[in-house]
Amino acid sequence: MAEKREFNNNRNDGRPNRRPRKKVCAFCAEKAAFIDYKDIARLKSGKCLTERYKILPRRITGCCAFHQRALTTAVKRARHLALIPYASD
Ligand SMILES: [Zn+2]
Repeated sequence: MAEKREFNNNRNDGRPNRRPRKKVCAFCAEKAAFIDYKDIARLKSGKCLTERYKILPRRITGCCAFHQRALTTAVKRARHLALIPYASD
C-alpha cells in the first residue's frame, strides 16, 4: 500500500513555527498626512533607513502602501537636496 503523503506546512528542522506579528504603520499611528523630506531625524530614527541610508522595504518597516510611497518620495527629495546621502560606506 502506497504511503499517503500529506501537505506539511511545518518545517521539520526543529525551529518553532512563528507567526509574524502584524505591524502597524508608524505614520498612520500618528495620523501623518504627508512625510516631510526636511525631517531627516524622523526618517533616520523612524527605522525607515538602514545605516547605509537605503530605504527599508515595507515588509520590514510595516508601513502601509500610502505611507511607504510618501516615504520613498520624501527620501528621494532629501537625497536630491543632499540632506541625506545616496549611499554611504
Ligand atoms: Zn500609513
